Amino acid sequence: MKGKSSPENIITFLGTGGARFTIISQVLASGGLWLNLDGTEILLDPGPGCIVQSTKRKLRGAKLSGIILSHRHLDHSADVNVMVEAMTQGGFKRRGWLFAPADALESEPVIFSYLKDCLEGIEVLQEGKSYSIGNVSFTTPIRHIHPVETYGMVFTTAEHTFSYIADSRYFDGLCQSYGGELLIINVVFEKPRPPIDHLSVPDAKRIITELKPKAAILTHFGMTMWRAKPWEIAERLSEETGIRVIAARDGMRFDLSQLNV
Ligand SMILES: [Zn+2]
Repeated sequence: MKGKSSPENIITFLGTGGARFTIISQVLASGGLWLNLDGTEILLDPGPGCIVQSTKRKLRGAKLSGIILSHRHLDHSADVNVMVEAMTQGGFKRRGWLFAPADALESEPVIFSYLKDCLEGIEVLQEGKSYSIGNVSFTTPIRHIHPVETYGMVFTTAEHTFSYIADSRYFDGLCQSYGGELLIINVVFEKPRPPIDHLSVPDAKRIITELKPKAAILTHFGMTMWRAKPWEIAERLSEETGIRVIAARDGMRFDLSQLNV
């Protein structure tokens, strides 16, 4: 429940699938996170289907102030071009910012060159830097261990701070880089699969135990997570950590005012 005068702070999970097999089967939808924070709308990691999932939910690309890519992998970036067209009203209105790591923009860019001119600008994400879009600021505290250049973010609004822990192998320093009342964690695997640079349930438990947020949301599920029933895993993690852990659902809207109680 939001107060009469306080602006909306809603995170919409356009999809909860992550990694190849959930994406190509669409067992779970994909498309990223739509943030509406104090009136500023930001799209995070527009994976395949973002345009479908967002329009279906009456989320309007023309209202976006920016699009952020944590990294260039397809499940995070496939719909970036069409979402730039949506943000710029078909390319006719020069507006909005794109934020992405350098390797998403350089030798094999994920964004078509003809669309770059439709944007107000492009900012390159770098370790330890701060950025702002409208009423929101965010930092990219540390480069993750993942096959391509990848960053998570700590978002700060007038009333809230929350972290998005994007794809990574677990490493010393990951935890210390993040914080806030809410953690959104991309948990691809149920169990660790060491050669592959993704977080698993034990990693998520370690992060939640260490950072003690008010709540944690698990998302970006691979097939092993999906088969293990993420909502049951979340319930078990809540019991084990004493922290409210939620498994995201396709289309779930999370109101940050829930964190005020
Ligand atoms: Zn990835």
